[in-house]
Amino acid sequence: MHIIRKDGFDFGFDPNACKSCPGNCCRGESGNIWVNHEDILSMCRFLQTNPIDFTPLYLNRINNRLSIKERVGEHGMECVFFDHRQKCCSIYPVRPHQCRTFPFWEYFKKYKDELVNECPGIRP
Ligand code: SF4
Repeated sequence: MHIIRKDGFDFGFDPNACKSCPGNCCRGESGNIWVNHEDILSMCRFLQTNPIDFTPLYLNRINNRLSIKERVGEHGMECVFFDHRQKCCSIYPVRPHQCRTFPFWEYFKKYKDELVNECPGIRP
């Protein structure tokens, strides 16, 4: 069992738990999935499109930042890239930095209880 740990965080993460998780980090409560320029270029390459076509289809502008759109799903809101049949990200190899760094977010240092309730991969 390989537990990932990161300096400054008092919990670890077992990525094997993703196999049995229905995608809690991509759906449920509404939230922002921030993307940067590099993220957009990677996603465009993967989807064989360009930022001009990609942006209005998949992104919302919120206070000068860009966030991936959400849609209403069976279990609340979900990211438009969440594949609910496979229960995983449809753009996993190029998922944005915010998704790749989950669950090691500054926010969860303060709100670890929220994380423990959401993610079955959190370990002491
Ligand atoms: S981009 Fe992929 S990993 Fe990130 S929230 Fe959307 S479905 Fe989940």
